[in-house]
Amino acid sequence: MIHKLRLAIRNDLEAPEEARHFGSGWLSGVAALVLSIASLCLLLGERLQGIFSTQALSPLYALPQFTLMLQVLLVASFLLACSNLVLRRNRILGFTAILLVLLTITIAETLNAQAARASGVALSLDWFVLNILLTGLLFIPLEKLFGRLTQQALFRDEWREDLFYFLISSVFVQTLTLFTLAPAMTIVHHTGDWATLRQTIASQPLWLQVIEIMFLTDFVQYWFHRAFHQVPFLWGFHAVHHSAKKMDWLAGSRMHIVEIVGLRSMTVVPMYALGFAESALHLYILLVYLNATFVHANVRFNVEWLKPLIVTPRFHHWHHGIEKEAIDVNFAIHFPLFDKLFGTYYMPKNQWPSGYGIGGHPVPNGYWKQFMYPFKK
Ligand SMILES: [Zn+2]
Ligand SMILES: [Zn+2]
Repeated sequence: MIHKLRLAIRNDLEAPEEARHFGSGWLSGVAALVLSIASLCLLLGERLQGIFSTQALSPLYALPQFTLMLQVLLVASFLLACSNLVLRRNRILGFTAILLVLLTITIAETLNAQAARASGVALSLDWFVLNILLTGLLFIPLEKLFGRLTQQALFRDEWREDLFYFLISSVFVQTLTLFTLAPAMTIVHHTGDWATLRQTIASQPLWLQVIEIMFLTDFVQYWFHRAFHQVPFLWGFHAVHHSAKKMDWLAGSRMHIVEIVGLRSMTVVPMYALGFAESALHLYILLVYLNATFVHANVRFNVEWLKPLIVTPRFHHWHHGIEKEAIDVNFAIHFPLFDKLFGTYYMPKNQWPSGYGIGGHPVPNGYWKQFMYPFKK
């Protein structure tokens, strides 16, 4: 039953282009479903704080407008679902959204808020929802307006895998952060006598600190990334990221969890060890997140004079290219300068790769098979 429902939902999400046009009820169905899932997750976050919520988001639940916001989401989802039911012959999306709205209301009526003890292992459902909504709101219109492959659908091949990667890295954000910060914190702990240096660094203007962080982390990232390409055991992990055959705002999420922890923990070391101001760290984290999403996005952003200065989508798309020439090139994530310096720069004039992935597509499909891939290879 559940399996059939899932299949039916998936079929309608992946409907061919002629069945997705404005007025077909597809858009309202998708929006209704997304908003109903968002409401359910946020309600669970509020009612089961510390189990399905993120500690950093607890001020959200304390807001007097939180309940109103949830009600608005539920009403919007319900109205969109009704429009789907009216406009579309296949009513599965609207129907499911209404079921989820009813479920959310039932839980809201029956389950009292319980503040469980916050722990690092809580599942951040709330963070997942806010993250996907904000990232989607920013990048889906961007890809619609400036799309490179305009025929590529939102629910393209393997979107479920990439969404699952997004889900995992979002719901475990607190645990991941703990692991990620461990090496940097150990270094900070043992270098108490760097206090003067740290003070000097933290007192620089914010913009300068952010640029310095970008350079330092990109230098570390460049060699970390290159090692993951050239050491066979490490390549098993990184091959997962390169197994994406479609590039868009969701494709960059596809990354083996071992690589996520390794990459993040190494790149934050210089940031913390050198004592950059907290505001600079936060600004950089937001920037690198948006940048990582942007360089994978399906956008034809191609400003010639920026090309040698900062990494553009075309630069990183070449890193993912299926062509022979695209193997082991363009490792930087901020500054192409590092690739020029170390001899791995590749940018054929005005061209994009003909396809993406690894020749022969050796990595299996599906999250768990990909999780095991480096160990079995
Ligand atoms: Zn790579
Ligand atoms: Zn990538």
